Amino acid sequence: MHELSVALGIVKIAENETVKANAKTVELIELEIGTLAGIEFESLDFVWPSAVKGTVLENAVKKINVIKAKGKCFDCDTIFNLDHFYDSCPKCNSFLKGILQGKELKVKALEVS
Ligand SMILES: [Zn+2]
Repeated sequence: MHELSVALGIVKIAENETVKANAKTVELIELEIGTLAGIEFESLDFVWPSAVKGTVLENAVKKINVIKAKGKCFDCDTIFNLDHFYDSCPKCNSFLKGILQGKELKVKALEVS
């Protein structure tokens, strides 16, 4: 499952940061995930407990900031919310657009102790 490898990647980042900070465990981890990042939030929640078991993240509180995707139309410069990659501009129906946000997948903050 894709979300499992994502979770394991997050564990790796947390372990590196914990070592760097000379800490033992993570109290809180804050993630930033865009709605176009290809992550299913339910699947991530599902695999999370087994991914973090026995790691520095085992008892950490997980907080996810969901970044709603936004695009900017190349033809009329309208900025609009995207539910899917293939959504068209609501003003001129153009499919040509730039993704402004929504592909984020990162660890935003860690609290260690
Ligand atoms: Zn447009």
